[in-house]
Amino acid sequence: MRIGFIGLGHMGRPMACNLVAAGYEVFGFDLHLSCPEEVQQTISAADAAAGADIVITMLPDGAALRKVAEEILPVMRASTCLLDCSTVDVETAREVAKAAKAASIDMLDAPVSGGIAGAEAGSLTFMVGGSEAGFVQLEPIFAIMGQKAVHCGDSGAGQAAKICNNMILGITMIGTCEGMNLADRLGLDRQKLFDVVSTSSGYSWVMNAYCPAPGIGPKSPADNAYKPGFSAELMLKDLRLSQQAATLVDADTPLGQAAEALYAQFVETENGRGLDFSAMLPRFANRKRQTQDIEDA
Ligand code: NAD
Repeated sequence: MRIGFIGLGHMGRPMACNLVAAGYEVFGFDLHLSCPEEVQQTISAADAAAGADIVITMLPDGAALRKVAEEILPVMRASTCLLDCSTVDVETAREVAKAAKAASIDMLDAPVSGGIAGAEAGSLTFMVGGSEAGFVQLEPIFAIMGQKAVHCGDSGAGQAAKICNNMILGITMIGTCEGMNLADRLGLDRQKLFDVVSTSSGYSWVMNAYCPAPGIGPKSPADNAYKPGFSAELMLKDLRLSQQAATLVDADTPLGQAAEALYAQFVETENGRGLDFSAMLPRFANRKRQTQDIEDA
């Protein structure tokens, strides 16, 4: 089986290599990077897609996906599959799926969680939107690049699941950091707070598995000077997508809105760019109480 892989950045590169290691023939293309040794270099997205049974895209955003789709759909064979693993807006996912369907190509939106470490280890989680038959057909591919794949519903459902999950994650990270910083100011030992919260009703994946305080809980980016992990700018991207979607469907998401404003402030004006999204904790620790911050952002 021949796979075309378009977008060989931080995530795409190790994902493509895992497919090669599992015995697939992979033809790759990236606008700015050359292919890793194992992957066969092509000269354009269309060249990577022509003759492929499955084309996988791992691109920065919806605009890039639309552009690549325009290039590859005309050259892809009927009854083949387009698997987009990028995180993009729900509308783009649905529109590209519609264009693919018109060319008799089955498209699945399958954004991932697990980050670069998960891409390297082949332990990503895929949230998949599109046809059930397409999902079943690609299960062996998901099993190579990931540890879990959930079929969430029709086209766009994978992206919807991803942005809802990450909106909850961003809000939870901010809440956890606020709580830890308040505890600091109240003179409470961070380890004691962790011991209580991680086994009480305030527990969460953020506190228990990805604690934003160095030296506490399992190893996390906080123990590595907040080197990502999952960067603050990627969290901002996903929060923006969540708010774009909320506007579109008229959903009231006040905390999602506040989380977007706070991460925007952190990334754009407070040197948060390049840090893990858990660096919200030192950000709070370095500040005094300022009630107007979010409104002014
Ligand atoms: P990246 O920027 O490292 O990689 C994207 C690659 O796409 C780049 O190398 C770029 O040159 C290439 N590209 C852009 N336009 C192109 C085009 N028209 N044709 C061919 N190649 C093109 O990004 P990444 O960190 O690998 O993330 C990829 C996607 O996965 C994003 O949508 C991101 O939101 C999502 N994601 C990332 C992480 C993470 O931890 N990095 C985690 C979960 C999801």
